[in-house]
Amino acid sequence: MGWYPRIPTGELSLYRAIPKVDLHRHLEGSLRLETLLDIARQHGLTIPQTHFHSLVQMQQDEPLTFTNFLSKFQTLRMFYRSPEVIRRITREAIADAAAENVRYLELRFTPVALSRLQGFSYDEVMDWVIQSAEEASREYNIKTRLIVSVNRHEPVDLAEQIVEYAIQRRERGIVGFDLAGNEVEFSALPFEGVFREAKKHGLQLTVHAGEWGGAENILEAIEFLGAERIGHGVKVLQTPRVLQAARERGIAFEVCITSNHQTGVVGAVRQHPLPQMVREGLKVTINTDDPGISRITLTDEYRVALEELGMPVAVFKDVVLNAARASFLPPEERQSLVETLEPELNRTLQFL
Ligand SMILES: [Zn+2]
Repeated sequence: MGWYPRIPTGELSLYRAIPKVDLHRHLEGSLRLETLLDIARQHGLTIPQTHFHSLVQMQQDEPLTFTNFLSKFQTLRMFYRSPEVIRRITREAIADAAAENVRYLELRFTPVALSRLQGFSYDEVMDWVIQSAEEASREYNIKTRLIVSVNRHEPVDLAEQIVEYAIQRRERGIVGFDLAGNEVEFSALPFEGVFREAKKHGLQLTVHAGEWGGAENILEAIEFLGAERIGHGVKVLQTPRVLQAARERGIAFEVCITSNHQTGVVGAVRQHPLPQMVREGLKVTINTDDPGISRITLTDEYRVALEELGMPVAVFKDVVLNAARASFLPPEERQSLVETLEPELNRTLQFL
């Protein structure tokens, strides 16, 4: 059972004004449709005129399944054709976040995905993203840090190379390491060594778990990989032992409401377990995941939490602050982010 739904205000501008934190947003899921069309034109790609948008973005009448959702990422891999493209999509992802008043963004990216088509080297791709992110953050006045993602359905030796490159770039804005991909068919355990290496060198850890797979995957991520945050983790409620472990260790959950609906994890948005996760005392945050593919913004997701799930404003405020508290910033910067956000949250939330 959720909270009692609120009466919709119909005022998206009120939600846009709320200062935001996004801890879970994939660069490869944040592309603008116009940019894709532009790239296709510039590089002479033939794309179907009538249904191109449905190959790269979720539509209303589509099957809500993982395979369908993930097929968009495969199509998008065809577009990473030059360093300019990678710099451009990075800049635009950050500009789009800034435009909806995201104050702090942890943008994650998958070097293997960006490199594959043209055989770019992973370290070069990382440098393009880092450099563009740095410039865009300055230009659009938004604080951005980067998380490097590897997929569990891709070979461990790739992850071993990538973690070394990520460690070398720690002083340049890479703060975290992430495991994503198919958690139903592929275990996280082979990545234990990679994650230990990341942690040893000061990267902070997050793992996609308990999204399509069961609650046990969350425990595995915490105990064997040392995850401090869990991507999604909505299955945590299935197993009391896992729930207790997550609560005791103060694990933060990067919840992405619409994404969970579009991949078929939850049947309807209003059935999302977020309210119960909050009631169980878990440290919950609200994020977008793949705003380009899902055709959403964080503004929409905040509105959904408040209006569709009926989250009380006081709880909502704490959820936004949770994201600041769970950020992969050094403790003083984290604290200063919380202190900057709090008065602004008080000011903007009084109108809801
Ligand atoms: Zn994700």
